Amino acid sequence: MLATVAQVLAALEQRNPVRLAADWDSVGLICGDPDALVERVLLAVDPVQSVVDEAISGKYSMIITHHPLFLRGVHGVGAVNAKGRLIHALIGGGIALAAAHTNADHANPGVSDVLGTLLGLTQMEPIEGSQDEPLATGTGTGRIGILTQPTTLAEFGALVAELLPATEHGVRIAGSPQTVIRSVAVCGGAGDSLLDSVGTRADVFVTADLRHHRAQDHLADGGCALVDVAHWASEWPWLQHAAQQLVTDLAKEGKTIIADCSTTATDPWTAHHVSPALRSGR
Ligand SMILES: [Zn+2]
Repeated sequence: MLATVAQVLAALEQRNPVRLAADWDSVGLICGDPDALVERVLLAVDPVQSVVDEAISGKYSMIITHHPLFLRGVHGVGAVNAKGRLIHALIGGGIALAAAHTNADHANPGVSDVLGTLLGLTQMEPIEGSQDEPLATGTGTGRIGILTQPTTLAEFGALVAELLPATEHGVRIAGSPQTVIRSVAVCGGAGDSLLDSVGTRADVFVTADLRHHRAQDHLADGGCALVDVAHWASEWPWLQHAAQQLVTDLAKEGKTIIADCSTTATDPWTAHHVSPALRSGR
């Protein structure tokens, strides 16, 4: 039997409770009829036109994204800008859109657990626990775990580049290449608000969108090494995990669903050049 949009949302809620979302966030159904039937779900990081095009051509009736489409007040969805056009394309294509954002970040397992597992971490704990949730639930922001085999920062950076989806952004390293890495902090998406919490609790912190001053201050204070990855790449692995959960959980209720992960790379950076002067000096 096919599931409805509402039943897919209920399955998503079971694993990523809305109560875990940050108070500034906006998660759940963005567009679509809860009673509509869903045969195929497409999971993606970003609600953008290329993903909607992929959903239309692949005959998907629902898209679940990690990022919300709207985070500020909206007074109209006329097809006069990208977001308005997206809403029209979704309704025209009979496609529902829902988001699981900070609720998926904070859930256990959540976005950072999947990232940490991919990088080989064990014994993961939240960098910051969820407020109002018992510590034992393991919910919260970011994760710190242990590598089964210690390595160097140089080797670890190369491993991150190998394991994450390919992007032109690539992987940037801050710290001495010979630093020994045993414990690793990870945060899928923008994690610079966690720099103070991480401090020296791990040997390296893997996250995205690290800024010059925050990174410089962290290092000057003796903080751990940094690995800066593409925001999209750090969150994409969670899609595979969430897709599998949906298929398995709905099957237990007698519902058959196909859940695929978007193959459209929505990282905004399309090229990356290293100065020839630097390259020749290596
Ligand atoms: Zn994100």
